[in-house]
Amino acid sequence: MSHQTDILIVGAGPAGLLAAIIATQLGLSFEIIEARDGLHPEPSAHVLKTHSMEVYRRIGIADAIFAQSTPEELQRCIVWCESLTGLCYGRLDLSGKKGLSPRFTRISPVYSANVPQNILEPLLKARLVERHGSDPVRFGHRLVNFSQDDEGVSARVQCGETTCELRARYIIGADGAGSSVRRSAGIAMDGPPALAHFLAIHIRSDAMPILARHPGVVFFVRAPGLSGFFIVHQPVGSQVFMLRIDPEIDPPEGFDEAQCREIVDRVIGCAHDYSITSVGNWVMSAQIARHYRAGRALLVGDAGHRFPPTGGLGLNTGVEDVENLMWKLNAVIRGKAGIDLLDSYEQECRPIAIRNTEQSVRNNDRMQIIETALGGDRGDTVLAETIGELRGDEAHPQFATLHAAVENQIDHFAFLELEMAARLTNGAFVPPARTVPTPVLPLEGFQPSFQPGNHVPHFWLSPGRAALDALRFDAFTLFVPAETEAAWRAAAGAIDGDYLDLDIIALDGTMRSDQASVADYWGQDPFAVLVRPDGRIGWIEPPGLADRAAALEEALGHIAGRASGPVPKERVA
Ligand SMILES: Cc1cc2nc3c(=O)[nH]c(=O)nc-3n(C[C@H](O)[C@H](O)[C@H](O)COP(=O)(O)OP(=O)(O)OC[C@H]3O[C@@H](n4cnc5c(N)ncnc54)[C@H](O)[C@@H]3O)c2cc1C
Repeated sequence: MSHQTDILIVGAGPAGLLAAIIATQLGLSFEIIEARDGLHPEPSAHVLKTHSMEVYRRIGIADAIFAQSTPEELQRCIVWCESLTGLCYGRLDLSGKKGLSPRFTRISPVYSANVPQNILEPLLKARLVERHGSDPVRFGHRLVNFSQDDEGVSARVQCGETTCELRARYIIGADGAGSSVRRSAGIAMDGPPALAHFLAIHIRSDAMPILARHPGVVFFVRAPGLSGFFIVHQPVGSQVFMLRIDPEIDPPEGFDEAQCREIVDRVIGCAHDYSITSVGNWVMSAQIARHYRAGRALLVGDAGHRFPPTGGLGLNTGVEDVENLMWKLNAVIRGKAGIDLLDSYEQECRPIAIRNTEQSVRNNDRMQIIETALGGDRGDTVLAETIGELRGDEAHPQFATLHAAVENQIDHFAFLELEMAARLTNGAFVPPARTVPTPVLPLEGFQPSFQPGNHVPHFWLSPGRAALDALRFDAFTLFVPAETEAAWRAAAGAIDGDYLDLDIIALDGTMRSDQASVADYWGQDPFAVLVRPDGRIGWIEPPGLADRAAALEEALGHIAGRASGPVPKERVA
């Protein structure tokens, strides 16, 4: 049967839109369907980690995102309080840890941003339309189910009253937590489905008068009968209060507008002009798909993992999934790699999701110490007493306990290891046959180096052009010591196998970031570094290499999931 497209992307959220942009850059044919009639009208995610911004830089939208990001001075504070303008239990100061600061400029050409998801998605969509030449998103098209055979997938898609069939060689489930692709592929989720339930009250307002006196980007609000968090997605624009509820006692559909206003008034704590734009509900869970791949079906984003939002890792983990998957799909579809390369997607990305889930759950659990310090775990009466005592005495000793508990939350909001691309421990890379220098001490768990499995460290090739900017989604990049460039070009020309393109870039040891030079990363003995299209180091030259062509071909073959030679016929695992 002939294939309609290379890929069917199900879902036009942050993960699906990114997959479509990269597919366009790769020249793959695809369909992208979305059940809703438009993009998400309200935000969920807002924290875009530095590595996500690196990926967004690669697709050319980083500057547009930064232009919409909350100013650094308003991202600096996380607040625990009775209300936004009432008693403050503690304030975590993130000065120097957000925005354009040395903390990031040492390790990346970009930095983290705070942009609501409903602003990010139109930026992604605009980029997709621009790159694609027309709007490929089919809104109002819902995947019902799909089946697969040796050549591709057949998807049943509902559009209004009609149902049609779409054929593709592969299907990407970017369809969120309730993924139909996952269900249809028979992939189970592991982990607790419901840790907590929340009512989301979205408002629009000019919050500047409040923020000028009580700066903060997230406010954890706790008072008798009130527990939740207020996110300032935009200082002027959208904000949301997430009220923790027990659906058995207070079903979300039971909250009317008057009750929601009463809640928001209490949360803000002073007269404030706002409009409620929508009210929804969501379940906090910690689940990971048992597999990321079932034959020709691949899961990305929330379809593969659902975390508590504590840590802001959900969308960001989806960015890393898509970055990891798309070049592999391209290589397999074009016959440049065996289908086994797709197994490395789960092998590499699922452990990242497990780590991030554990971290998100830890972040969530760690906040319990603040609840304990307030006495909230002993009921509303004790909580009210504590608040009463604290309100009347600025020097109350319990503030010291609360402030220590708040300081203890720092990993939740600023931890470089989670800001940056994860280190791969297993997957499509060749373990090094040399000791890899580590010239930079680890900072907050992050240590850049030329270690295979790591993302290539940041350094400038020329003013304004980072190593990252040289990478192509459809090619490997071989960074070589300048004096060996001619020899490496000859070696690359002598390779017989049919691999993805290989770009060769000569490095000079003086090229550097603010913290280390290429010479520092090389140590005593400069060596070639093979970087995959997703920026991960796939291989480094061993010491005393005699036959460059043979070594390079062996490394490319290893990464591509096959020995060098003809590409085996595509088969479904
Ligand atoms: C309060 C809160 C705060 C958060 N904050 C952050 C944060 O700061 N940083 C962060 O990284 N993450 C955060 N997250 C998580 C983040 O919102 C999600 O991880 C992210 O939206 C997942 O993106 P996605 O594209 O995988 O899925 P989704 O955004 O869920 O998109 C999936 C899309 O698929 C569509 N779809 C579903 N089923 C079908 C079907 N059968 N056919 C066709 N289309 C379908 C849906 O309509 C939807 O548009 C937060 C979440 C919450 C609730």
